[in-house]
Amino acid sequence: MEEHSETRNQGRSDDDRRQGRDGRMASKFKKRVCRLCSEKTDVLDYKKTEVMVKFVSNKGKILPRRLSGSCARHQRVVATSIKRARAAGFMPYSPR
Ligand SMILES: [Zn+2]
Repeated sequence: MEEHSETRNQGRSDDDRRQGRDGRMASKFKKRVCRLCSEKTDVLDYKKTEVMVKFVSNKGKILPRRLSGSCARHQRVVATSIKRARAAGFMPYSPR
């Protein structure tokens, strides 16, 4: 017996081409709600660094909206208050 040793080792798994799972996609994306909207914060005090550190990367940068998940209005509020806080010395410009 000769074995046709055709090793088809190419990992070509047709990753799931949306085989109509009863019309519902697995909800990978949970609905993002703006953190400040959920806390009903309208104005952000620049002295509240404990709120603002969540909107800053570990390099001290202000997170973009797609990462922070905040809405347009609050992103602006956060960004300006972070800049104010930096100028006032409450927040670092650069990592320590
Ligand atoms: Zn918001």
